[in-house]
Amino acid sequence: MDLKGKFTHIFFDADDTLWENEQFFRDAEAQFTELLKDYTSPEGVQEMLWRKQEDNIPLFGYGSKTYMIGMTDAAMDLCEGQLPEHIYYGIKKIITDLAFHEFQLIEGVEETLQALQGHYTLVVATKGDLTEQMNKYRISGLSKYFHHCEVMENKDEKNYLELAQKNNLQPEQILMIGNSVKSDIAPVVNIGGVAFHTPHEVVWVHEMMDMPQSDRIIELNNIREVLDFLL
Ligand SMILES: [Mg+2]
Repeated sequence: MDLKGKFTHIFFDADDTLWENEQFFRDAEAQFTELLKDYTSPEGVQEMLWRKQEDNIPLFGYGSKTYMIGMTDAAMDLCEGQLPEHIYYGIKKIITDLAFHEFQLIEGVEETLQALQGHYTLVVATKGDLTEQMNKYRISGLSKYFHHCEVMENKDEKNYLELAQKNNLQPEQILMIGNSVKSDIAPVVNIGGVAFHTPHEVVWVHEMMDMPQSDRIIELNNIREVLDFLL
């Protein structure tokens, strides 16, 4: 597919596309499982946490604060309403460590942004908690490459149509790069855009989805391969 000269803007997912994220949530989940080990099996803890997360995301959105509520709800149920102090503060420590973990850019990102800058308007299109995502954007050191950062409430077709409109683009002018089939790839091709998939080895269960069939999806091994298509 020849994409050169066809797009003015490139939209980038952030978590697990520009920087590592999911691995830190998996580490937090492992710590939570260890904290609740006297109450049930590791599978039982994970199943309960998963259910509580799915309950809370529609109410409170994505991010570590919602994760804290989900963990507290799960622990409360597993402790049958008698939540010990050390479990509550253990959860709080897990979430604090998660929110302030060491920042790690994904390999190839910075050189790719450097090469694309000046040729395209680069925009971060992420979803999650506004404060949390903007903090990550600022400390990433990548903001100098981007025109701006959009924190979207969710990433479905409706949100991408709004993203196009906000940036004065037609839906088919959306070119998205991201790791999540459900959030970055499927909705973009469904509205007529083009999507580059940069797979990440750790995928959140909530984000799992089969890859749709479309000639407007391009699979990459590393983000720097977009340069072959776009420069
Ligand atoms: Mg992502």
